[in-house]
Amino acid sequence: MSSFNVKAYGAASKEAELVEMQIDRREVKPFDIEIDILYCGVCHSDLHTARNDWGGTRYPSVPGHEIVGRITKVGEDVTKFKVGDLAGVGCLVDSCQECASCKQDLEQYCLNGFTGTYNGEDKYLNQQTFGGYSEKVVVDEKFVLSIPENLDLKAVAPLLCAGITTWSPLKHWNVKEGSKVAVVGLGGLGHMAIKLAKGLGAEVTLFSRSPDKIQDALDLGAHKVVISTYDNEMEAVQGTFDLIIDTVPYDHDINPYVSTLNINGTLVLVGYIGKMEDGLATPTMILGRRTVAGSVIGGIKETQEMLDFCGEHNILPEIEMIKMQDINTAYERMLKSDVRYRFVIDMQSLKD
Ligand code: NAP
Ligand code: ZN
Repeated sequence: MSSFNVKAYGAASKEAELVEMQIDRREVKPFDIEIDILYCGVCHSDLHTARNDWGGTRYPSVPGHEIVGRITKVGEDVTKFKVGDLAGVGCLVDSCQECASCKQDLEQYCLNGFTGTYNGEDKYLNQQTFGGYSEKVVVDEKFVLSIPENLDLKAVAPLLCAGITTWSPLKHWNVKEGSKVAVVGLGGLGHMAIKLAKGLGAEVTLFSRSPDKIQDALDLGAHKVVISTYDNEMEAVQGTFDLIIDTVPYDHDINPYVSTLNINGTLVLVGYIGKMEDGLATPTMILGRRTVAGSVIGGIKETQEMLDFCGEHNILPEIEMIKMQDINTAYERMLKSDVRYRFVIDMQSLKD
């Protein structure tokens, strides 16, 4: 298949810093769209992948799955978009389209495995997929999102992962006016969870380890902040929440949070992927019909609904703009929970 070269930023190994490199993109096929990338958000998953935290990273690794840009080319059979339109690409760029999950617009649970925007298996070029830390991307139009025109484009980028990953469980567990929702961890996902839950009418509480984030959380729309290391504060919210969205990226004891669920409440894990060393204490679950669940990103239809909801309600992340060349420092700051609350790369810095 014919391809062309673009500049990108990626890691050559798990110990390596990200540096400038060249990667291949396929020439547009009949259903493809070529996007000139303007902004790309920085997700903690980018760091996990670049550093092989989850195993299975294929190098070189070019992360980035919060992509917005302008369409520069469309294939002859493309119907949804035209050259010059704004477009977004999130965490998925392909799926089988035939299995029971895909047929229900749940491509993120594709039974044959979805193709991740990075570190996936590229069906066309014999290589891993490369993400948005690059000049251009070529994607099947089915996996391309429309961007509401009224929103500030650079701030839209994080909606494509942080937004949809928190929106999907809020919708699945039917959060509505008056629901009691809690969020664990105030980072990229956590701050979007607060804004979106509040947008749906919920009363939102933040669990955080960081007392210096209390005022921010209240400004973002939280009703209350509980510092998770203060026993008296944890005690005061026992049996309270209908839904807890836990965004913490590393192994941690979830039992203290499970007991803050109301009867029939659910704690949904979206952050840490791996074995939990502390184990789950079942009495709290059994005696309160409480659920511990998980959720991954969201489907394309649901992502469009989330973007349209954000357009209507003017909901956007708090962002800090960085240059592509600052990515390694940004990762170090992310590890120290020093992100307020999402880094977005101005991709012009890669082109200059
Ligand atoms: P982030 O911006 O780094 O935020 C994570 C927050 O968690 C931090 O700000 C901090 O909040 C808290 N935290 C960090 N380390 C902690 C620790 N050791 N113990 C307790 N709390 C800790 O990360 P993010 O981009 O929001 O991503 C969060 C996680 O979700 C990552 O693991 C990412 O890979 C994953 N993710 C999953 C999906 C999915 O589909 N399920 C999608 C995207 C990302 P406080 O300072 O408030 O405590
Ligand atoms: Zn992400």
